[in-house]
Amino acid sequence: MKLAINGGTPVRKEIFPAYKVIGNEEKEAVNRVLDSGILSKFLGSWKPDFYGGPEVQQFEKEWAEFYGVKHAISVNSNTSGLFSAIGAIGIEPGDEVIVSAYTMSASAIAPLVYNGIPVFADIEPDYFCLDVNSIEKKITKRTKAIVVVDIFGLPYDVEKINALAKKYNLYVIEDCAQAPFSHYKSKLAGTFGDIGVFSLNYHKHIHSGEGGVVVTNNDELAERVRLIRNHAEAVVEAKGETNLINMIGFNYRMTEVEAAIGRCQLKKLRPLVEERQKNVEYLHSQLKDIPALTLPKIRENCTHSFYVDAIKFDMSVAGISRESYINAVKAELAGTGLREDEGPLIGIGYVKPLYLQPLYQKQIAYGSKQFPFNSPYCESKLEYSKGTCPVVEEMHEKRLFTHELMRPGMEKKDLDDVARAFWKVWESKTELEK
Ligand SMILES: *Cc1c(COP(=O)(O)O)cnc(C)c1O
Repeated sequence: MKLAINGGTPVRKEIFPAYKVIGNEEKEAVNRVLDSGILSKFLGSWKPDFYGGPEVQQFEKEWAEFYGVKHAISVNSNTSGLFSAIGAIGIEPGDEVIVSAYTMSASAIAPLVYNGIPVFADIEPDYFCLDVNSIEKKITKRTKAIVVVDIFGLPYDVEKINALAKKYNLYVIEDCAQAPFSHYKSKLAGTFGDIGVFSLNYHKHIHSGEGGVVVTNNDELAERVRLIRNHAEAVVEAKGETNLINMIGFNYRMTEVEAAIGRCQLKKLRPLVEERQKNVEYLHSQLKDIPALTLPKIRENCTHSFYVDAIKFDMSVAGISRESYINAVKAELAGTGLREDEGPLIGIGYVKPLYLQPLYQKQIAYGSKQFPFNSPYCESKLEYSKGTCPVVEEMHEKRLFTHELMRPGMEKKDLDDVARAFWKVWESKTELEK
């Protein structure tokens, strides 16, 4: 069958169903807030409204109950949540924080905001989360914390990494943006470290436009996150806080409208994740016999919430490159509603290994003089050169592709079209060999 990339008829021309999780519940909630006239009630001073308005506080209460944690603190993004978490644990200039090189860039930037140094560790070839052995090799006397990422929707290696953190007295911050409602045993992802951080941005499983939530069972860290969220420096004196470390505040506050939407979204989280899991299961049953594909493994005792479906491609089995194969598959498929401009939602690799970004290559962050990298605070030899994390580089440059064609809204016939495209290109791959 002539491949679409060579001018043949594509498997699918009709746009795939949009992932649309906003409905009447959210409309009613937003109207309730609009009718109240209070779109945000935060005050940046030591008054009762320091903690926000009724929707914000109710959202936080419901999130804490759902997750079984003492504190849930709403913020305006996962990024600001990570920043406040790093500030709260007291990162000092030059302190080292071990981060993954294969994650959204904000997970690694958080330490830098406090002039800490991101130290990149490698990932597990089967699960793509931080590799405990690589982490241990990167620990120095300046290491203060690890930012673990439940990448693509799978929890990190909780037992081993938490044990390592305990041995070296390190904080664990869990970036759970991609893994809401993933489990390790009976516990929910986001609750495994000292602090967990969620995202409510438009691309995540549930969203409020923009937004985030920080969770912790530690009373002191929770209060420090709340201070950083809301103009700490203007509040500490009246509140009687004497620990001034990193008590420079920002405005990371969530609005009442976002909180009201977040409350509705939280109720949908479980069914939305379960539908994703069901779709992935079906799609994998259709793809599993393509010899060059390795479908994602799920770590023992964990569930996967499939923010994306990350599949490995083996060029030596296929006889063609990952790029040739995926570009031909994409040519067989259509875009997705609400995101038509992006074309078929399949990515070659995920993100470029973070240390290869200009920021790390040129070491220009604050001002023009390479601060804090080239400063008396930074004591270790920086490793940002190519080759630093070989598994990340191999996955990104040769092996991995990621897709989102299993999101709720996709029906069996849509999933069948996806599988048909992968099979069609596989069976006609000799057409690509020239
Ligand atoms: C989306 C994402 C973020 C950033 O979330 P925002 O809410 O947009 O700030 C951080 N880390 C990971 C792993 C993400 O996927």
